[in-house]
Amino acid sequence: MKCEFCSQSALAGNPITVAGIGIAHQSCYERHLIDQRIFRSLNLRQLNAAELNELNDLVQIELNARQPVRTEIELWGTSE
Ligand SMILES: [Zn+2]
Repeated sequence: MKCEFCSQSALAGNPITVAGIGIAHQSCYERHLIDQRIFRSLNLRQLNAAELNELNDLVQIELNARQPVRTEIELWGTSE
């Protein structure tokens, strides 16, 4: 029983079963998700540039919306 990502024995680590892939170490699978830019079920590499920019805007808007109210005035005026 080998890890599908690193080909080492899956028993040596923390083996999990990944749907559509097979047996893998938990840590190898997490690394794989980051490599593929997968968040939940969304693969960021499959987005075109416009979609990625739109997602980026949405993330920024959501982050801003979660800021404490008293910093709201600064949100759109400053750039990092
Ligand atoms: Zn592995």
